[in-house]
Amino acid sequence: MTTYRTDVLVIGGGAAGLAAATAAASSGRETLLIEREDSPGGVLEQCIHPGFGVHRYKEELTGPEFAARLVEELERSGAEVLSKRSVLSIDPKTRVVETTGPEGLRTIKPRAVVFTTGARERPFGALRIPGPRPVGVFTAGLAQKLVNLYNLLPGRRALILGSGDIGLIMARRLHLEGVEVVGVLELKPFPGGLTRNVVQCLDDFGIPLYLSHTVTAVHGTTRLTGVTAAAVDGDGRPIPGTGREFEVDTLILSVGLIPEAELVSPFVGLDSINRGPRVDSRWRTEAPWLFAAGNSVAVFDLVDAVAAAGAEAGRFAARFAAGEDEEGRIVPLVRGENVLHLVPTALDSSIPTVIRLRVPRPMERAQVRLGGGIVSRRFVGVRPAEMVEVRLSAEAVEALAKLAEVKVEVIEG
Ligand SMILES: Cc1cc2nc3c(=O)[nH]c(=O)nc-3n(C[C@H](O)[C@H](O)[C@H](O)COP(=O)(O)OP(=O)(O)OC[C@H]3O[C@@H](n4cnc5c(N)ncnc54)[C@H](O)[C@@H]3O)c2cc1C
Repeated sequence: MTTYRTDVLVIGGGAAGLAAATAAASSGRETLLIEREDSPGGVLEQCIHPGFGVHRYKEELTGPEFAARLVEELERSGAEVLSKRSVLSIDPKTRVVETTGPEGLRTIKPRAVVFTTGARERPFGALRIPGPRPVGVFTAGLAQKLVNLYNLLPGRRALILGSGDIGLIMARRLHLEGVEVVGVLELKPFPGGLTRNVVQCLDDFGIPLYLSHTVTAVHGTTRLTGVTAAAVDGDGRPIPGTGREFEVDTLILSVGLIPEAELVSPFVGLDSINRGPRVDSRWRTEAPWLFAAGNSVAVFDLVDAVAAAGAEAGRFAARFAAGEDEEGRIVPLVRGENVLHLVPTALDSSIPTVIRLRVPRPMERAQVRLGGGIVSRRFVGVRPAEMVEVRLSAEAVEALAKLAEVKVEVIEG
């Protein structure tokens, strides 16, 4: 079998991959983007609501409009795109990437790889809800795809479990399509999604949000006929005697995304909370030729940040492919109190960077401290749904990089 060669191979053509391929090709490197679907765009293609690109393009676009802009930029950059082709494996020793598509198997040997495979939804099976497995239980992303791309309704009367952004957006979408949405249940005592989505997707349409609630059983033999829900205590355990029945034929699950990292997890370390590969501020994983960005690293809040990360990863991958890579000292970032998702997970002493993190609960006032206070920033109104961004200048990074490791902590108040 012929092995094709390229400087930079980008795996996955969502926002991160499109921006990465554009940046790598614009740096003068031969760049190939591989996407398993019919065309690039990723999850953006099914997000027909507005709310994308406010930072990057200073206007509010729909997902497909945002994707179209990225595709235009990619076309101008000269990067090559191979759609309908899936990456099957990456050999870390030879760097040979095995792919399959309508024309059969092909292997590619790149100098550098940017890994941008996005995230997948947590399925029903992961929730350990007892009872039968009738038709009518959908993940929110699948329901979104059915409605927005295939013009199919998942059912007539729906309950949504999980108030993350996808769940909120699907509540509104289904309501607008004529489905009776009886409510959204959220395990936590606060909504999982952005405040603007709670207002625009639930409040504006009178859809009730049940905080501190979960599904305890599903009913129905062939088609779903109902769901039992209950209030939960502070540890998320159902409180006896609080059960209530919802007569629905559809249960939509919006219970989290998990980075799609299986292709690289055999040979690079994953972060236990992000669940994607550990990356430094060049978006470099533990394999020096492998860069990663976007939802395959950690689930981001906004596509603007995903595209920015992808572009940086593409630029650094291009530099590596050209042999121009001058790495600084790599200093791990370690989580202190109140830090969940954290990207990157290490600093490179030679470049300025942006640290993005999520807090575990809403805080009216918070102080983000790095390195015991070498850098400290105050924020008002931080929420788990929105990533907190801390921009670090070259001087700040240099000061922090003198430490053996940099603790990142969020102090409430
Ligand atoms: C319902 C929903 C609503 C959202 N709303 C907003 C919003 O209003 N505003 C906002 O800014 N952001 C929003 N976001 C977030 C934003 O859309 C995402 O963060 C961003 O699009 C993720 O981009 P990505 O490139 O990391 O991943 P993806 O878009 O998932 O792209 C990954 C790509 O990799 C491909 N791939 C995976 N594995 C392989 C393989 N082995 N071989 C080849 N190709 C592969 C996939 O097919 C896919 O195209 C929303 C997200 C969702 C799901």
